[in-house]
Amino acid sequence: MNFHSSHIFREGNKVADALTNEGISLQWCVGDGRKISFWLDNWLGKPLASSIGVIGCIPLHAKVNEFIVDSHWALPALTAKEAFVYFSSHIVRRSWGKVIWSKAIQPCKSLVVWKALHGRLLTDDALQRRGFSLPSCCSFCGSHAETGVHLLLRCPRIMVLWKWVCLLFSHSFSPWSSLEDVFLGGWVSAFSKQKRRLWIFIACTLIWYIWITRNLLRFEGKVFDALEAQRHLLDLFKESVRESFHTYNNHAVVSVYSRLGISQLSANAPSFTPQYEATD
Ligand SMILES: [Zn+2]
Repeated sequence: MNFHSSHIFREGNKVADALTNEGISLQWCVGDGRKISFWLDNWLGKPLASSIGVIGCIPLHAKVNEFIVDSHWALPALTAKEAFVYFSSHIVRRSWGKVIWSKAIQPCKSLVVWKALHGRLLTDDALQRRGFSLPSCCSFCGSHAETGVHLLLRCPRIMVLWKWVCLLFSHSFSPWSSLEDVFLGGWVSAFSKQKRRLWIFIACTLIWYIWITRNLLRFEGKVFDALEAQRHLLDLFKESVRESFHTYNNHAVVSVYSRLGISQLSANAPSFTPQYEATD
């Protein structure tokens, strides 16, 4: 046996399926295969291991000739676990999906955030993508077209609110790169479990608040007031945090409670009059 063509399709196992999906040419000659790494050498157009994503889940030292028996391919069948690793690596993960649907967050807020993360809020740019021809102007600053990113993250008047909630968590604000960054950004992922849960709750509340306020400004002629918005948000945070987070006793979370004016020791904490700082 001097040469083999790679008729892997005939074998019909998951490796072949993966190769089919990758669209790799399977007609290379491999000699007797003794010197060619089955997984790591480029005998199929590109290394098989990287093509099907098996690095780290199975041994990769095999030579091609080890999969040839009596001049026929004897290809390794992937285990269910290996197949799962392969296929799951090709699924676009939505890691924020499970964090925004929490018992601590009202469904109406989760729904608005879910729509925002999917680009389904009917902002001006979303309507324009659907074919509507309309002028666009941000209802908060009045000096920029309304896009989802501008409205929720980049509008100067909205960034004041993000800066304020970041300070509640002792974090100096820098503009978000995306909405997903709000929930999965580096400094957020470094939080303790309880603190991250509290952050997600507050971030969801703020995004929901921005959206309903935008509708009030646009459709009912209201005027945006940053200080009034902070007072309203603080009431929302305190009300819900008391109900959903009062059992936590984590030091990092207690410090946020303190900034919210909530006592960890009593559900009926004394009223708190925050000192607002006009930053706009
Ligand atoms: Zn704006």
